[in-house]
Amino acid sequence: MLDLNLSPNFDSNKGYSRRQFITHASCFGAFYGLAKMIPLPALAAELAGDSRVSQTVIADKGFASVRKIGNGLYATISDYSKGPVTICNGGFLVGKDAALLLEGFASPAGAAFQMDTLRTVSQVPVKAALDTHYHFDHSMGNAFYGANGVQLYAHAAAAKRIVDSYAPLQGADKDAALAPLEKQVRDAKSETEKQHAQGDLGAATSVYAIANATVLALPNHPVDPAKGTKFDLGGLTAVVESLPGHSGTDLVVRVPEQNVVYTGDLLFNGWYPVCFDEKATVSGWRDTLKKFASWNKETIFVPGHGQVCGQEGIATIREVFDDIADQAEKMFKAGVPVDEAQHRYVVPDKFKNFPIFAWGFTIGPAITKLYAEWQSK
Ligand SMILES: [Zn+2]
Repeated sequence: MLDLNLSPNFDSNKGYSRRQFITHASCFGAFYGLAKMIPLPALAAELAGDSRVSQTVIADKGFASVRKIGNGLYATISDYSKGPVTICNGGFLVGKDAALLLEGFASPAGAAFQMDTLRTVSQVPVKAALDTHYHFDHSMGNAFYGANGVQLYAHAAAAKRIVDSYAPLQGADKDAALAPLEKQVRDAKSETEKQHAQGDLGAATSVYAIANATVLALPNHPVDPAKGTKFDLGGLTAVVESLPGHSGTDLVVRVPEQNVVYTGDLLFNGWYPVCFDEKATVSGWRDTLKKFASWNKETIFVPGHGQVCGQEGIATIREVFDDIADQAEKMFKAGVPVDEAQHRYVVPDKFKNFPIFAWGFTIGPAITKLYAEWQSK
């Protein structure tokens, strides 16, 4: 989830500066706070009556399950509360001639689970796999594809972002790497700030562990964001396009004939959105969500995190962004400094069950980015 460019800045003796590490570590850490305590909700009522969506799953390992959501279309949905094998959602598309696998997940075991499940429904050759963006929970299992000769597609900037963000963590001294976040906890100016800092530290600790538990593997088919790409799987065409918002490397995979979209992390369904990537833009992301909202009313969305949903999921995340922006704007107009404002957002009752990975990866940076956008006007 973040953006990093760590390599030029990382000094293995001194560790990261606080800002660098946060940027860096947020990716991983984000998922290790509150989020891991909250089980995946059941399928929404809106989809319970949709004949395209199977009410039973075809595989269930606890950490993830797979459900049919269309003709040849499957969604792999993670339940982070049951373990960090996959962490993110994914899916696979099966045509008459070939299959496409989505996401590298958080570990090779996660990618293997999805491949094994594909083989329970079809023996067609795998044409390719695709990472919707470079973040660790979508790419740390890429080595599975490398080992199995599967061609791997991603946004043209993804490979470099993987290397810049995660290679410096591998083999780095843990105490040195985490020291700036420990300091952030010690230096917190209020109980609220301290809680936020502890969540960030927990997240960073987990990120460090995940990055050191895998072998990095890079996409070998860069997708030009201006052109996108298409996969003809035999009677089933997947259209890939780049949209702004979450990571600067985001791709969505659409099956227009069936009104099904795999959004990657451009949609967090029932979660606070992870905004800390240096290439994340709140305005760009809100534009993307507006575009999703303009698509067919019957569209099924497979989000990057959270349960499969219809347009109600898009409406809800737009409300979350509206609420963050409303509260931030009031503080901005009242002259509250950004360092204070980023900790002062109040979660309203209607979103109180929404996982917040860690404050410093979600709400805090959303407010910081909104301030920057307003200041540049
Ligand atoms: Zn992400």
